[in-house]
Amino acid sequence: MTASPTLGLSPTDRVMILAPHPDDEALGTGGLIQQALAAGASVRVVFVTDGDNNPWPQRHAERRLIIRPADRRRLGAQRRAEAVHALATLGLGGGDTFFLGFPDTALLPLWKKRDAAALAAFSRALADWPPTLLVTPSAHDRHPDHCGVFALAQAALGRNGQSPAQVSYLIHRPWFRRAPVLDVALPLTSAQRETKLRAILCHETQMKLSRRRFTSFAKPVEMFASVPPSAAGRA
Ligand SMILES: [Zn+2]
Repeated sequence: MTASPTLGLSPTDRVMILAPHPDDEALGTGGLIQQALAAGASVRVVFVTDGDNNPWPQRHAERRLIIRPADRRRLGAQRRAEAVHALATLGLGGGDTFFLGFPDTALLPLWKKRDAAALAAFSRALADWPPTLLVTPSAHDRHPDHCGVFALAQAALGRNGQSPAQVSYLIHRPWFRRAPVLDVALPLTSAQRETKLRAILCHETQMKLSRRRFTSFAKPVEMFASVPPSAAGRA
């Protein structure tokens, strides 16, 4: 049996995390962010949407059936603030947090039509701050925004001629396909696990309906799938 690949982070590393929505950073990478910072690496988190198209939790929290554009914008602003709070809990300052502001639930359609603005935004984000480790959502995640972000990132890497090390995280397991092999294990200390849980709980808008599912992500080991370098440019 071969040993699991490890991340082996050092102070020269630049770790970029792509999060389709506020909450993915804490659920998928709350331990990794802490360990990268503890290793002296630089960390940047890029949120692709504000997670504003999330009507059921919003209906429940605000006791309203009809969600209007202004309501969505308000939710998006709230979720951005929750993400900043969660990252501060994990030790990351606001200067290392970026929001691209693409429409929530639109990322797979944007990828399918090879949307020029989306590809340009991803290319720019990766070129402006070239990561040594890129952390993306999984190509096998059943949420279309998650696999859309994976595909857009690979296309942007190919376009830029970049080939950082890559791992991906899985939030929504596929329904009809086998889940991907998560071959990179990141054990967390109990303090890191506790901090990850606190970061997850910062996403208050999601807690009413998803508290149990969300808090279950604060496991003793955070798992990732390694992504072969050949994924770039052919997603
Ligand atoms: Zn998400």
